[in-house]
Amino acid sequence: MQETKGGGTPAVEPGIIDPFARSINYLRLSLTDQCNLRCRYCSPGAGRKLRRADLLRYEELLRFIRIAVDLGVRKVRLTGGEPLLRHDVLSFITDLAAVPELADIRLTTNGVLLERYAEGLYAAGIRKLNISLDTLRPERYHKITGADLFHQVWRGIERAQEIGFDRIKLNIVALRGVNDDEFVELARLTLVKPWQVRFIEFMPVGGAAVWDRSRYIPTTEIMERISVLGEPAPASDSGISGPARLFRLPGSCGTLGFISPISNHFCDRCNRLRLTAEGMLRSCLLSDQQTDLKRILRNGGDDEAVRAAIIEAIRHKPKGHGLKPGETGDCHGRMSRIGG
Ligand code: SAM
Repeated sequence: MQETKGGGTPAVEPGIIDPFARSINYLRLSLTDQCNLRCRYCSPGAGRKLRRADLLRYEELLRFIRIAVDLGVRKVRLTGGEPLLRHDVLSFITDLAAVPELADIRLTTNGVLLERYAEGLYAAGIRKLNISLDTLRPERYHKITGADLFHQVWRGIERAQEIGFDRIKLNIVALRGVNDDEFVELARLTLVKPWQVRFIEFMPVGGAAVWDRSRYIPTTEIMERISVLGEPAPASDSGISGPARLFRLPGSCGTLGFISPISNHFCDRCNRLRLTAEGMLRSCLLSDQQTDLKRILRNGGDDEAVRAAIIEAIRHKPKGHGLKPGETGDCHGRMSRIGG
């Protein structure tokens, strides 16, 4: 493993190079395990909540992030649970945006509080938003999420567009028998909105309580269904490489994204590290292997110890998750804690 900072060898992309030649420069941060929705594929039950004292404090997060940035992380995504539920989140983002060399801060939200927060998020420095929206039908939204809030979320998305965020992406988890009759309708949004509409394969995260193999739909089938709208042309995207393969329908102003963690996984270009809401450092979403960073931070560990923990986690980043459709893998952690 080589480091690009202080280690001498210049590299094209910043980050620590892991044993499989991937440059690790992207951190996903779960700010809280709390959520105001109960999506049936994510956190269907109330479950045990973390106590406030179990969450990493903002000053701990900032310390960790400064060290990670020093090692080459350049992009941070705030997620959860629902990140907008974390107390005083806008001042935290403002402080985060002041971290030198942190080029890019993004947020994934369910959009329930977006109408209220959009302006503050923009002012704090967020320019790119991912918003989860699995259906365009209000009653179905209620059924999937347990909350009758479709219109509120939609207003939030439109408010974000008015404000002028650089990029708005809608995340749709493709679920057989739940929203698969809406793929065409959802894809059609790209004809009228400059958004990226992304179809994500259902993943076996959270153990048997959440995973239902009969709901899984591979990307090829999703694309096939959408093809009634015309032949999509490959589209390119700028910025640090993401997992989505992008396409454009004829005459569209937005793009279609397909994320295939199971049928065509992107492990060989995975540049991610994750920090869970309770301070566990993970190098793979689908593996329960993790390092207790909170213990290091709270037991007087110096910056060198934190740095060593990050390097060690990257050194053990699995080559790939190796899952095939129908397998549950060894990830039993909840998506809301790990950070989706
Ligand atoms: N509360 C925020 C939200 O709803 O966007 C952020 C957290 S949520 C866990 C992040 C993303 O993970 C969402 O887009 C959600 O759809 C996705 N997700 C959750 N469980 C999933 C699963 N089993 N398979 C695929 N995607 C999943």
